[in-house]
Amino acid sequence: MTEYDHIVIGGGAAGCVAAARLVEAGRRVLLLEAGHSHHHPLLDMPPGIFKMINGSKFMRYHRTTPQEHLNGRVHEISQGNVLGGGTSVNAQVYMRGRPSDYNEWDSLLRGNNAGVRWDWEHVLPHFRGMEGNNRLYDERHNSDGPLLVSDPGYIDNVSRWFVQSMQSLGVPFTHDFNGPAQRGVGFYQFMNRQGKRSSAAYAFIEPLRANPRLTLKLNAAVSRIVIENDRATGVVYRDGSNAEHTAHASGDIILSSGALVSPKLLMLSGIGAADELRTHGITVTADLPGVGQNLMDHPEVPLIATFNGPFGYHGHGDGWRMIQHGMHFKLFGGGKILSAGVEAGAFVNPLDPEADPSIQAFCVPDIYLDRDVLDAVEKTHGVTITTVVTKPKSRGYVKLRSADAAEMPIVSPNLLKHPDDMATMIAGQRFFLRAFESGPLGDRVARIVKPDPADLSDEALATHCKRLVKTNYHPAGTARMGADGDPMAVLDAQLRVRGIANLRVADMSACPNINAGNTAAPAMMIGDRCASFILDPALASQRREDLRVA
Ligand SMILES: Cc1cc2nc3c(=O)[nH]c(=O)nc-3n(C[C@H](O)[C@H](O)[C@H](O)COP(=O)(O)OP(=O)(O)OC[C@H]3O[C@@H](n4cnc5c(N)ncnc54)[C@H](O)[C@@H]3O)c2cc1C
Repeated sequence: MTEYDHIVIGGGAAGCVAAARLVEAGRRVLLLEAGHSHHHPLLDMPPGIFKMINGSKFMRYHRTTPQEHLNGRVHEISQGNVLGGGTSVNAQVYMRGRPSDYNEWDSLLRGNNAGVRWDWEHVLPHFRGMEGNNRLYDERHNSDGPLLVSDPGYIDNVSRWFVQSMQSLGVPFTHDFNGPAQRGVGFYQFMNRQGKRSSAAYAFIEPLRANPRLTLKLNAAVSRIVIENDRATGVVYRDGSNAEHTAHASGDIILSSGALVSPKLLMLSGIGAADELRTHGITVTADLPGVGQNLMDHPEVPLIATFNGPFGYHGHGDGWRMIQHGMHFKLFGGGKILSAGVEAGAFVNPLDPEADPSIQAFCVPDIYLDRDVLDAVEKTHGVTITTVVTKPKSRGYVKLRSADAAEMPIVSPNLLKHPDDMATMIAGQRFFLRAFESGPLGDRVARIVKPDPADLSDEALATHCKRLVKTNYHPAGTARMGADGDPMAVLDAQLRVRGIANLRVADMSACPNINAGNTAAPAMMIGDRCASFILDPALASQRREDLRVA
């Protein structure tokens, strides 16, 4: 029987980082990834995301339950099904959130920290230690980490017009959304370098592929964790030909299957709400009612306008034009193919310009809708500004459909269910609609298509939001950390599953509250911290940079 020091379940954003750190430190690690290899041209190319969103083997499509508050609508939350997880299929926007996000986690976790801190001061070194930024270098940014961060490789005029129009409306330009102030309009930075995606797979696992301490198995879907006498000792998984295997570890097992699958695997292993588990005939190992609860995600609603000329990316991703852009890149190394399809964005608080931004916006130089509502607008030259609530209050859940590991879990994200989220979203929609009527962008707009400009009442905007709201692909919080005595806490402050030895959860499930902004970098930070906790519990509060120097 092969025994490993650690098993990491899921080679996504957090799992790749955790596995790599442990291998670098001399541990023998088995990394089990249910999805495919990350070596594929569509994954490497920044705009590949738009090909995948509409159906790909590299994605796992979770269909929601009918959302009553959205008039029964069923929508999808797609997640990466590939080594690198979300970081191999995402839009690559590099965003950490703001210091107050982590200071809030820290204050929620007080009481059982035993010296473990999650405040900004203690998470920043993990972000910074991983970062290889080719423009920024200061106390927040680093230039020589493995995760390559760069400015957009190509900026379409539409993105420039958006940034200028927002400035004409008084929104200040920012050159760094991860800088001291998140507020402003500007161009995002991306986990990318010269057209090549810097996923967690490329940045962290690829350099270790020849390392004998790392065993990587792709198409290996874990079905449950083996728990003996309240200690995690192994995992059961199925390989690509559906044969079942069991692997064992002497040390910690790290569950990193993402916020929609990690709670499912906990429940299948007998960890969850006891009553719920019993209804599926699962023997209860740890009664933790928080498993699967507290599902958070950033809701995103589009504003769409058509252009009075052939601007933006419409038609550039298909047929001969796509070939032309590919040839241009091969011959000259540049062009539209270096854009992930989004380059610019903004963080604002529409109701109080001085307060923390309540809305993040993305400018997509094309008409961009989710799969279930693709027919809502006829495709032509146009622009989409999506508005995203940065700190949503709505909470959903993940539950087991059955005790069969092959079944997808039941997912109900409840996007925009909380009235405050809807009010924030409506304020954001009104704020960004003005970009279609102002400055250089306004000069090119032929018609506002969504929402209907003839009726911008709260009621009409709420109807529009309910019809078109989609995930920003950031599910989180379904196995969250919490203080001792918090009945819904699944993990302690070192990401350990309460009541079970040798088992940690390191992915976006662990977040007590969602960060304001995209979630790949935070997931990697969690993976990095998890490895630190394992490698030297006494140094649990120490910083990655210090550990590297030591
Ligand atoms: C389309 C899309 C666009 C996005 N755009 C951005 C962006 O621009 N910027 C940004 O910061 N964030 C973005 N995100 C979000 C970001 O990528 C995720 O928040 C992040 O990847 C989450 O990390 P994680 O480790 O929690 O889970 P994941 O990265 O999802 O990793 C989970 C891994 O577990 C694997 N897995 C699942 N089930 C099993 C099983 N049974 N056994 C073994 N392995 C399993 C999965 O295949 C996956 O590889 C986007 C996500 C998507 C899907």
